[in-house]
Amino acid sequence: MLDGSVYDAHAGTDHALKRNGAAHTGRNGSSKGVLHAVSLEEHLRLILTELAYNLRWTWDASTRQLFSALAPEAWAAGRNPVKVLRAAGASAAVLTAHEAWIRAAGNDLLAYLARPAWLQEGPRVAYFCAEYALADCLPLYAGGLGVLAGDHLKAASDVGLPLAGVGLLYREGYFRQVIDAHGAQRERYEWADPAELPMRPVIGADGRTVVVTIPFPGRAVHARAWRVQVGRTPLYLLDTDVTENEPNDRAIAARLYGGDAVTRLSQEMVLGIGGARLLAALGPDAAPDLYHLNEGHSAFLALELARQRMRSGRAASFDEAVTQVARRVVFTTHTPVPAGHDVFASDLMEWYFEPYCRELGVSIQQLLALGSREPGSRDGFSMTVLALRSSARRNGVSQLHGRVSREMWTGIGVGMRNAPPAVEMEGLTNAIHTATWVGPELARLFDQHLEPGWRLAPHCAEHWSGLAEVDPAQLWEARNAQRGRLLEYLERRGRAAHAEGLAPGAGADNTLVLGFARRFATYKRATLLLSDPDRLARLLNGDPRRGVVVVFAGKAHPRDEAGKALVQRIVHATRDPRFQGRLLFVEDYDVELARLLVQGSDVWLNTPRRPEEASGTSGMKAVLNGAVHVSELDGWWHEAYQPDLGWALGLGLPDAQGQDERDAAEAVQLMDLLEREVRAQFFGRDVNGIPRAWMSRVARSIRTFAPMFSAHRMLCEYSERLYEPAAGKPALQIATPQHALNTM
Ligand SMILES: *Cc1c(COP(=O)(O)O)cnc(C)c1O
Repeated sequence: MLDGSVYDAHAGTDHALKRNGAAHTGRNGSSKGVLHAVSLEEHLRLILTELAYNLRWTWDASTRQLFSALAPEAWAAGRNPVKVLRAAGASAAVLTAHEAWIRAAGNDLLAYLARPAWLQEGPRVAYFCAEYALADCLPLYAGGLGVLAGDHLKAASDVGLPLAGVGLLYREGYFRQVIDAHGAQRERYEWADPAELPMRPVIGADGRTVVVTIPFPGRAVHARAWRVQVGRTPLYLLDTDVTENEPNDRAIAARLYGGDAVTRLSQEMVLGIGGARLLAALGPDAAPDLYHLNEGHSAFLALELARQRMRSGRAASFDEAVTQVARRVVFTTHTPVPAGHDVFASDLMEWYFEPYCRELGVSIQQLLALGSREPGSRDGFSMTVLALRSSARRNGVSQLHGRVSREMWTGIGVGMRNAPPAVEMEGLTNAIHTATWVGPELARLFDQHLEPGWRLAPHCAEHWSGLAEVDPAQLWEARNAQRGRLLEYLERRGRAAHAEGLAPGAGADNTLVLGFARRFATYKRATLLLSDPDRLARLLNGDPRRGVVVVFAGKAHPRDEAGKALVQRIVHATRDPRFQGRLLFVEDYDVELARLLVQGSDVWLNTPRRPEEASGTSGMKAVLNGAVHVSELDGWWHEAYQPDLGWALGLGLPDAQGQDERDAAEAVQLMDLLEREVRAQFFGRDVNGIPRAWMSRVARSIRTFAPMFSAHRMLCEYSERLYEPAAGKPALQIATPQHALNTM
C-alpha cells in the first residue's frame, strides 16, 4: 500500500472491488467501462479475492459459509480462503452458480468498511506485538497474548480507530501438537508460503517491495514487509526469509518463541527496530501519534525512535530522546510470572548491540543501564525494564494484575533520570471480540431478541437488556445445539482416530460438559480436578442418565518439561478405565478448537494459582456462549465474580497456607462445588425438561459479562485512559454516537 493509505479504511481493498462491487446496481456510470472490460467470471473472482484477503471473514459467519459452499474440501482442509480462491476461482461454473451470494458478501464487506467510524478522530496508533491470533491458516500465534492482540485489531476495525498492527511473519508458527502412543506431546512444524496465505507484499512509493535493514554483528539483517488486512485495520508483518539474508538469518523468525536466547534476541531486534524502520519507510503520512507495546518483546522500538529523534536534531542527548519518546509510548505488561519476562545476558547484549550502539551514538553501558533494574550491575537486560523506562503510561491486564504489577515494578521511572511516569501502572482488563467468539445458535437468538448493536457495539449494556425477556426454553434449545455440535465432534473424532471416544449414553440435553482448555503451564493446575480420582469417577459415572463429560485441550511450550508432563498425565487419565469416554483430551488446541469448546461447554473451569493468571480470556468466551464460569478468584474473575453468576474457587479459604495445602483445599472445594451445586442445578429440570434456575443464571451472566468484557469496551478504555493522553489530547469521554449504532 502506498504511504498515505496506512490508516485509511479502504486501503487494503482492491479498487476494482470498489468499482465493481457497486457496478451491478448500475448506479455508477464510470463503472460501466469496467464491467465491459471484465467478464462476469473475472468480476466474481475479483470480489472473491477481496473476500479472501480481508480477514473480516474470520468473524463473519456468512462469508465463512460461502467459502465452505464454494470449495468444501479446500475449506475443510485448513480453513484457508486463498486455497478456496484457487479451487473455486478456477471454475467458471462454480463461480456463476454462487453469483448472488458472492455479490451479496462483497457488498456486505463494502458496507462494513464504509460504516461510520466513531473513533476515527482518535489518535493514530502503532500497535506492536510478537503474536496475533486471527485465523488458524496464519501461523502467527501461540496463545492468549496473540488472541488478545487479534481481538484488539478486530475491535479497532469495528469502531474505526486508526490503528496499525506490527508483528513478525513466522513461517513455521508455534507448532502443531501431536500426542504419541505414550501420551506424550510431540511437536510438528509446517513451513508456510506467504503466497498461499491471505497477505500481500507491501509496496513502497518506488513501486518495489518494502524491505528494512537492521544492523547485526558483522552483517545486516533484512526483512520484507507483508500486509494482512483485518477489516479496516492493517497488520504489517516482517519476514526474514528473504534471499538477501544469510541462511541462518533467513530462519530468525521461523518459529514463534522457538530457538535459543540468540534467536529470541534477534527476533525482538527485527520486531522493535525493524518495525520502527518499516513505519518510517511507509512515509510521513504513516507516522503514528503514539506506540503501544503490547508486552515487552517489542521494546527495542523505543531505542530506534530515540535514534530517529537524535538524528533529526529533535533531541540533544540519548536520555532526552528516550524521555521524549516515552511520552508517546503505552506499555502493557501481561504476566506476573518471572519466566514470562525476557532477560538477555549482558555479554549477549554487548555482542549484538555493538553495531547498533554505534549508530545510536551511545556506549553499550548506557544502553545496558536502560534494561537493568540496578544500573551498573550485570543482572542482565530485561525487556520489561526497558519497556517501563521507555513508556510514560503502563498497565496490567486486570484490576488485580494492575496492582500486582505495580508492586513488582515499583520504582522504575522513565529514562535514566527515573522521571515519574504519567501513569505508573493501572489495571485495564482484557476482553474478547464478541462476533468472533459467539456461536451460531446463540448469535441467532441474540439477533432475534436484542438490539442490532450487540454485534458491533457490544460494550453498550443496553444492547443486552433484552436477554431478560428471552424464553428460557429458547435459550436452552440454543445451548443444546451448541453443546450437541461439540459432542458430535468428540464422537466423530473417537471413531476416526485411535483417540478415546465419547462414552455412549445420555443425549445432548442430558450431558453436562465441563471444559478446560489453555496453555499447559504448571501454575494453571490442569490436574487439580484429578486430585481425588475416585471421587471424580463418581461424579462422571454416578448416574448414566445424567452424564458428565470433561474435555481438556492445550499445548505446553516445547521446552517446558513440567508442562508437558501435565499433558501426559491428563492423556493417561483419559485411558484410565474409571474415566474412559468421560474424560477426554483433544490435541492441537487452536482457535478453531477453542471456538468449538467455548461454544459447547456448560461449565468453564479455570484453576490457576492466584495471582499468577494475569487476566485469562477463555472464560469470557465461554460465558458469552452461555457457560457458567467456575474459577479461581484470579485475573478477570477476581473483579467479575458475583455469587449468583458463577462459582468462585479459593473463596473463604484461609490465606496463610503453604502451596501444597492450598492446592489440596481447593481441589476439595472444586469437587464440592461440582457435586453439590453445579450438577444439582444443571440437572434440576422442570416438567418440560428445562433447567430453569440454570438458564436464568446463564441469561444473567451473559447480560452482565458480555458488554463488560467485550473488546470494544477495552478499546474505548485504552483510547480514553491511555491513547488520547499519550497523543497529547485531553482525555475524551467517548460516547457511542447514535447514528453509528443505528446503521449496524
Ligand atoms: C482464548 C484463547 C487462549 C487464552 O485463554 P486463557 O483463558 O487466557 O488461557 C489461548 N489459546 C486459544 C486458542 C484461545 O482461543
